[in-house]
Amino acid sequence: MNTRAMARQHTTWCARNHSCGATEHRSEPYRANHPGLGSLVMTRAQTADGRQYAEIRLNVPLASEEPAARRQLHTALTELYHLLRYFRHIGRRAA
Ligand SMILES: [Zn+2]
Repeated sequence: MNTRAMARQHTTWCARNHSCGATEHRSEPYRANHPGLGSLVMTRAQTADGRQYAEIRLNVPLASEEPAARRQLHTALTELYHLLRYFRHIGRRAA
């Protein structure tokens, strides 16, 4: 799909603003702040070839001391990996 055609065919969830560009449609970002826990921003996007993805940015406070901060980082990576595997699993079940 060329840039002009993509711009005409916004998705129903597309923000239709400056964040929707030549190569993808993007939703308004969902923002959640959980005092004492952290915050997240999630944006839905669709590339020009029709694939969709969620862009997720997490802000997680870390312990000020080592090795606690490293353990937290390790836990974050492990849990995010499990989330990716779970998404692949439910994506295959839906297909
Ligand atoms: Zn759009």
